Amino acid sequence: MEPIIIIGTGLAGYNLGKEFRKLDSTTPLLFITNDDGSFYSKPMLSNALAKGKTPAELVNFSAEKMATDLQAEIMGFTRVEGINPASHCVSTSQGETLSYRKLVIAVGARPIEPPLVGDGVELIYTVNSLQDYAGFRESLHGRRHVAIIGPGLIGCEFANDLLSVGHTVSVIGPDQVPLGRMLPVQAAEYLKQQLAEAGVNWHLGDTCTAVNKQKGKFVLELSGDSTIKADVVLSAIGLQPDISLAEAAGLKTARGISVDRTLQTSEPDIYALGDCAEVEERVLLYVMPLMQCARALAKTLAGEVAEVSYPAMPTVVKTPICPCVVAPPPAGAEGSWQIEPSDKGMKAIYIDTAGQLLGFALLGEAVNEKPALTKQLPAIMA
Ligand SMILES: Cc1cc2nc3c(=O)[nH]c(=O)nc-3n(C[C@H](O)[C@H](O)[C@H](O)COP(=O)(O)OP(=O)(O)OC[C@H]3O[C@@H](n4cnc5c(N)ncnc54)[C@H](O)[C@@H]3O)c2cc1C
Repeated sequence: MEPIIIIGTGLAGYNLGKEFRKLDSTTPLLFITNDDGSFYSKPMLSNALAKGKTPAELVNFSAEKMATDLQAEIMGFTRVEGINPASHCVSTSQGETLSYRKLVIAVGARPIEPPLVGDGVELIYTVNSLQDYAGFRESLHGRRHVAIIGPGLIGCEFANDLLSVGHTVSVIGPDQVPLGRMLPVQAAEYLKQQLAEAGVNWHLGDTCTAVNKQKGKFVLELSGDSTIKADVVLSAIGLQPDISLAEAAGLKTARGISVDRTLQTSEPDIYALGDCAEVEERVLLYVMPLMQCARALAKTLAGEVAEVSYPAMPTVVKTPICPCVVAPPPAGAEGSWQIEPSDKGMKAIYIDTAGQLLGFALLGEAVNEKPALTKQLPAIMA
């Protein structure tokens, strides 16, 4: 029997495998992955320093253990280079052509490259895999000052984590506040202030234009004409779904690989989930949505067609210096933020014109209100 082929062994691919095996213990499963196939929790990459974990300690299970547990074959260090929907085949970097009965694309996202010039650009780190992280961690040995380009969720989490073990941290970004796309401005100001008090050097309202090497360090040139001298540079300006394989195979793509609520692409027998997928025009690069998708797709692959739904899914920002949980209102919502500062935090709620709670941002002690407020939010995709 041809196997179900899953491309990618990130949280999307492996969680799908786990959910599928709960329903079907006999259909052959073949994972093809570009990395070593070890199972790890990617969110741990941005708080591993504070948790005292080395990259090796972040591995929960080896590929061999995953293969045994999932009764699957795992082809590691193998890149899928092409998909042929008509003949139900994929071609790999090992020169093989493999047939599938169903194919699942779970290839994740790619870091967006900042538009920079200079002879230091190639030495800038991005972190979107355990291997990336191992390189970044190695670079920190004996080096103190880390410049982070990008004050979004991942940039802020790394800033907090690096501070927690004594690094000097500078963060650069074009908006006047960190997390400007997720938080109302007052909440973002609060987070900015808390992280500044803990030691973050903000360079906001400014963009980095060039990174050059100078005597073992890096000089970052900013658009406002100032410079920063740092030992290590990390870029965290965002991720974009990896649609390259799907596009080349003629599948419908938009920001991500377009799928319907059964996670099927524009081709029958080919599905996508995780960071690479766009589910009914929603691209959500988080763990909770991919878990929902994994459960629904497992059912479909086991023979009972199921549609995914998304409940309200607030995002926890891992900045223990200033705990933060945010559920942004949907794009185009008509309403306003109501802000309640307190001694030890801030509560911001977004109410629409009919009085319905559509979003919130909770900082400091206010994070305790997350469970009660989450219950009041409408589903993201009912
Ligand atoms: C630093 C960091 C912190 C985060 N923190 C949080 C958090 O706190 N909470 C949260 O909800 N989300 C967080 N996220 C996001 C979350 O981790 C991701 O949404 C999730 O891990 C994506 O999983 P994935 O399996 O879709 O993609 P990936 O983990 O990127 O996996 C993709 C897989 O596909 C393989 N692959 C790619 N191309 C090919 C190919 N052509 N052939 C074969 N194999 C291929 C790769 O080798 C890899 O195995 C964080 C992300 C980062 C980077």
